[in-house]
Amino acid sequence: MPSGEVDKNSRGRVTVIGGCLEVPGGVRLTAEAALRSGAGKVRIATVAPIAHMIGTLFPEAAITALPTSASGEIAASASEISPLLGKCDAIVVGPAMSCRHHASRLVDTLLDSITLDHRVVIDAAALMSLSQHADRLKKRTRPALLTPHPGEIAAMLDIDGADLASDAVSIAMLAARRFNAVVVLKGSCTTIANPSGAIYGFNGGTTGLATSGSGDVLAGIAGGLLARGCEPLDAALWAVWLHGEAGRRCAETIAPLGFLASDLLPLIPGLMHSAG
Ligand code: AMP
Ligand code: MG
Repeated sequence: MPSGEVDKNSRGRVTVIGGCLEVPGGVRLTAEAALRSGAGKVRIATVAPIAHMIGTLFPEAAITALPTSASGEIAASASEISPLLGKCDAIVVGPAMSCRHHASRLVDTLLDSITLDHRVVIDAAALMSLSQHADRLKKRTRPALLTPHPGEIAAMLDIDGADLASDAVSIAMLAARRFNAVVVLKGSCTTIANPSGAIYGFNGGTTGLATSGSGDVLAGIAGGLLARGCEPLDAALWAVWLHGEAGRRCAETIAPLGFLASDLLPLIPGLMHSAG
């Protein structure tokens, strides 16, 4: 891990922008994963009606209450998003949002507001309409880190999900090049593709990781590592390993199925420590 991490500000500040009234708690998983990965501070920016409740349930987080649509999704404009950006070293956008249209508007606003080298993880519904933002992602000097599951990458690339099983490697690389991004294509075997052409596979996880909130934890680990100074490819590789290994240990100590995404969280610090 990077040296010089002497206080909570210099150890990395993460802002998680996500959640909706239908899935109010997912952002808490992402935010806790960021802190468990060693980030010093975390802020959750989420729909106003539940924002302060989340802050009470997760007192380690600072909270920003964002304007909310009638359907219970984030409906923030640049004037609400811009003030969040100077206060963080990495952003995770999209976890626990459920509407691709609201998420796409949020991504639009965010990409207009951040610098080309800001560290950013784009997850979940925020990925679904990413083709509309490809031009701006291509201009980035630091690639975004994208964490799609198969359904999300199929929507990103407008392809048939059936093609994925046979050709995950090519599809992950296609997405990495199209969006100039580090792509973590999640699944029982996860493929990590870098726009430079490097490609990696990880199959050390466990079936029990296919559980609600699991991807929210992965996105938070990646955000935490980015905030601590990792470049996107390193953050992706470490996050996938930490998440998969935490899952494998839960499978051993609890049971192969039935552990929760939140059970992964307390294992992350020890895994990071032992991995050096
Ligand atoms: P999400 O669908 O966004 O909640 O993400 C699910 C997470 O669980 C991803 O990190 C996947 O790689 C992982 N996962 C899903 N199914 C399996 C499986 N059968 N074996 C190992 N990991 C899995
Ligand atoms: Mg997900």
